[in-house]
Amino acid sequence: LAEFARSAGASLAAEGVHTLLVQFTDLHGVAKGKLVPLHQLETVLTDGAGFAGPSIWGTGLPRTGPRAEYYARGDAATLQALPWMPGVARLVGDGFVNGGAFDACPRQVLKRATARLAARGWTLQTGIEPEFFLLRREGVRYVPVDDADRLDKPSYDLKSLPRQQGFLQALRVALEGAGLQVLQIDHEDAHGQYELNFRHDEALRSADHVMLFKLAAHALAEQRGCVFSMMPKPFANQPGSGLHFHVSLWDAGRCLFDAADAAEPLSRLGRQFVAGVLAHSAALCALAAPTVNSYKRLVVGESLSGTSWAPAYVAHGPNNRTALVRTLAGRFEWRVPDASANPYLATAALIAAGLDGIDRELDPGPACTDDLFALSLAEIRTRRIAMLPQSLGEAVDAFEASELLHGALGDTLHREFVRLKRAEWIDYARHVSDWEHARYGATF
Ligand code: GLU
Ligand code: MG
Ligand code: MG
Repeated sequence: LAEFARSAGASLAAEGVHTLLVQFTDLHGVAKGKLVPLHQLETVLTDGAGFAGPSIWGTGLPRTGPRAEYYARGDAATLQALPWMPGVARLVGDGFVNGGAFDACPRQVLKRATARLAARGWTLQTGIEPEFFLLRREGVRYVPVDDADRLDKPSYDLKSLPRQQGFLQALRVALEGAGLQVLQIDHEDAHGQYELNFRHDEALRSADHVMLFKLAAHALAEQRGCVFSMMPKPFANQPGSGLHFHVSLWDAGRCLFDAADAAEPLSRLGRQFVAGVLAHSAALCALAAPTVNSYKRLVVGESLSGTSWAPAYVAHGPNNRTALVRTLAGRFEWRVPDASANPYLATAALIAAGLDGIDRELDPGPACTDDLFALSLAEIRTRRIAMLPQSLGEAVDAFEASELLHGALGDTLHREFVRLKRAEWIDYARHVSDWEHARYGATF
């Protein structure tokens, strides 16, 4: 490491880098970190940058004693100059406490999950697709940065897209400069909503890339006087923002989800993995859709701008965008996660569920080819299709009861997640909204 630090430090310095942004991710999926002079690179790689542990959401660390100190120890493989912050290179840190890997660090949780795969000779590839809004503040609320055309259906709109070209192009250049391969950018289904896709990668790297994407997007939007938002459902009558995961399992260069039979999208192993994801879907929701607002996205039915394309029922089907799992040749798209999900925790939970499906040789049941958004609730019941949790409270209950996810996250993070998310739910449940005043104020 000393040798690496010397040579990497020297080449970064030659590029004009003078500062490290040592970054980690808290329970809520929010990037945290500090700036450290480049000459500290070796220390950050060996010991880490120090933080007050109890100040970080989800650590559950005491306020005094040796376990009060949280170290973000740099992962050398992530060292990367940030084009939108001249002179600064990002280094992603893994949590360490008292000299040992900290079990409740989300990145450590994902590393434990990928190690379980590695023990079988496997790796997971994820392609994570961020949808997001560009907003501006109007009083206490946010409004889309652009809804000038008031289109019924702004998907793929080419009148408003060019108005945001300054931001979108700057974001693309920033991400490419930081090593991501940008694949496409489009206007999504809601006013002020966009999606930017970058190439799939090994699970840990993909999660790191989502955090890099968020860092760049927040900074570049702010430079342009607007607000970058990954809030799942900012507007009641517009679609929300998903964070879909495209998932495939590999053994060296061989995709284990490739079906031998061309009529099937997935192999037997792939079907078992999907079965695990479906079987644990209620508990997974707590991590994939972790906010009060998430459950305003996961509803079916037509909104003013048409279908919201977010799943509500536990089903899988070939190229079926109305199902929770959309199967494709050799991979599947997990459509539950929304843009507020912590990518490390969502991926770790996905791996635990998939492995459970494989170990118990679960069957996902028959593929669903119906347009689930067109079925009535009565039809859904007749077909015995399960519904996803309808609130954060329900999802947290399912998560608390899940031994599988308890094992995957570890005692501390499982407990802290339940504690914080239940408090968030209770806070919301006690809040009296404008809707209630309008509906009940003068009624009784
Ligand atoms: N915005 C939709 C969601 O909330 C997804 C639209 C799409 O399939 O791109 O999941
Ligand atoms: Mg999309
Ligand atoms: Mg998608």
